[in-house]
Amino acid sequence: MFKKLYFNIKNFFLIEIIRGLMLTLKYFFKKKVTINYPYEKGPISPRFRGEHALRRYPNGEERCIACKLCEAICPAQAIKIEAEPRPDGSRRTTKYDIDMTKCIYCGFCAEACPVDAIVEGPNFEFATETREELFYDKEKLLANGERWEDQIAASLKLDSNYR
Ligand code: SF4
Ligand code: SF4
Repeated sequence: MFKKLYFNIKNFFLIEIIRGLMLTLKYFFKKKVTINYPYEKGPISPRFRGEHALRRYPNGEERCIACKLCEAICPAQAIKIEAEPRPDGSRRTTKYDIDMTKCIYCGFCAEACPVDAIVEGPNFEFATETREELFYDKEKLLANGERWEDQIAASLKLDSNYR
């Protein structure tokens, strides 16, 4: 009987609603924990494994020496490389493809690369409308490298003590 009376009083004075409103008011003035994505973005780790990129040296020369270690270690067999010696005797790729639909973003390719040529950059906004757009070729990967070089170089520097 007392229990029923207690519930009736609570309902009559809208106690639960008032408590809810008080809670809303309390958090209304607190610092927001949400961000207005995509206009605002949260910080990402220097070790973040995003979209792949092929890097160049500051003089414009491709870093990749076509050793194929990345192709060999890729557990998803997503990387395909073809290579030929140049007239000057240096070895460079003639084809460097990554099937991003197969990639599992394990980062092994970047770990295996002796010259930090293939890396996983900070970009995570590369959703596409078609499957074909996720078949990356060398041109696309080098363009990614040029676009993200500053952030990639900064991340590699921050992480250099732990590699
Ligand atoms: S991140 Fe892993 S799965 Fe993706 S291409 Fe590199 S080695 Fe292959
Ligand atoms: S990206 Fe690195 S690991 Fe892959 S072939 Fe080029 S130099 Fe070798």
